[in-house]
Amino acid sequence: MSIISKNLKKIKPSPTISVTQKARELRAAGKDVIGLGAGEPDFDTPDNIKNAAIKAIRSGDTKYTAVDGTPALKRAIIRKFKRENKLKFSSDQITVGTGGKQVLYNTFMATLNKGDEVIIPAPFWVSYPDMVLLAGGKPKIVKCTEQEGFKLTAKKLKKAITKKTKWLILNSPSNPTGVGYTKKEIIDLSKVLIRNRKVFILSDDIYEHVRYDNFNFFTIAQLSKLKERTLTLNGVSKSYAMTGWRIGYAAGPKDIIKAIRKIQSQSTSNPSSISQAAAVEALEGKQGFIKKRASSFQQRRNFVVKSLNNIKGINCLIPNGAFYVFPSCKGLLNKNTKLKTDTDFVKKLLEKSNVAVVQGSAFGMNGHFRISYATSMKNLKKAMIRLKSFCEKLNK
Ligand code: PMP
Ligand code: GLU
Repeated sequence: MSIISKNLKKIKPSPTISVTQKARELRAAGKDVIGLGAGEPDFDTPDNIKNAAIKAIRSGDTKYTAVDGTPALKRAIIRKFKRENKLKFSSDQITVGTGGKQVLYNTFMATLNKGDEVIIPAPFWVSYPDMVLLAGGKPKIVKCTEQEGFKLTAKKLKKAITKKTKWLILNSPSNPTGVGYTKKEIIDLSKVLIRNRKVFILSDDIYEHVRYDNFNFFTIAQLSKLKERTLTLNGVSKSYAMTGWRIGYAAGPKDIIKAIRKIQSQSTSNPSSISQAAAVEALEGKQGFIKKRASSFQQRRNFVVKSLNNIKGINCLIPNGAFYVFPSCKGLLNKNTKLKTDTDFVKKLLEKSNVAVVQGSAFGMNGHFRISYATSMKNLKKAMIRLKSFCEKLNK
């Protein structure tokens, strides 16, 4: 009998983390690999945030805290929602965890019974379905085509809802496509959800601050009729370049928040006291760098999209945010190139040209691949030259 649980067989290691780790190892072994796999800003955490953490250490802020967040951090999160999203919450509607990832995991563990369905529009972030499976739920994947801008439509949502549907996940701007839902698109979806009265909505807003071309961010909890059924997830990882600090948070119904706290109290307890102090400074301190960094990401996006669309066989939509593009490589999967799937394409690209990207199938959509352009222009220029020459050779 295996020591490993049967439950664990349902899932795989995170493919985005695997690709990032592989690129790291190849580089350590002396290979000139350009990693476009990692989903994290290449910027450093701003100094005011680092200093707040140092101060917290020096002043003895080094003990266990309240399980789901210090009062100071919860206050800062409440102010953030009010300031940026015009949403009002009380502290018993807020939970803080070790990264948005833990908050998501806790949410599914706290709310799913065996067989409960979670609607996940594809392309999706790799961890949603596996977290749902671990919690005993059933991911209901709804494919959203490139023609639909990779976005869920009201019609498809209506069709996907069954008696067993517990959650709908919305992620805007999205990982891996970078596309964002407009207010109108969210209102269209909300009509189905208001009529339905039962389904809860998990709005993953982690890329809220990485958006371009004055794209107007709108989050579904802003619609008063749905606020009671929405859990809004956010965190400091992407907005404040704090991936390693591991602070994520959510706001929503009190009973869900309480259930999440129960799980956290029996698993990890509080997130790091020092990271929480740093997160208070992130949310309350100067915010000016966010826009500057987003504009730097926008320049890179423009460069990458243009370069990709200049390659025969590759086609790329222009995203509204996040730091990903999700181009199609379908034009290169044929007898001539001897490549059958996006996974073949990605493997060959790494092997022949030392560029690491993630296969689209990991995000629930074959025939595509994800590039994270959260790296220097120098790296991106080199990577695009390599990619072009790789594809030209395939085309010959
Ligand atoms: N949601 C999405 C869509 C993400 O891409 C990530 C990044 N890993 C997360 C949530 C969680 O991020 P973190 O755990 O660093 O807060
Ligand atoms: N969200 C990032 C990504 O998609 C970080 C890695 C992960 O947690 O999956 O690459």
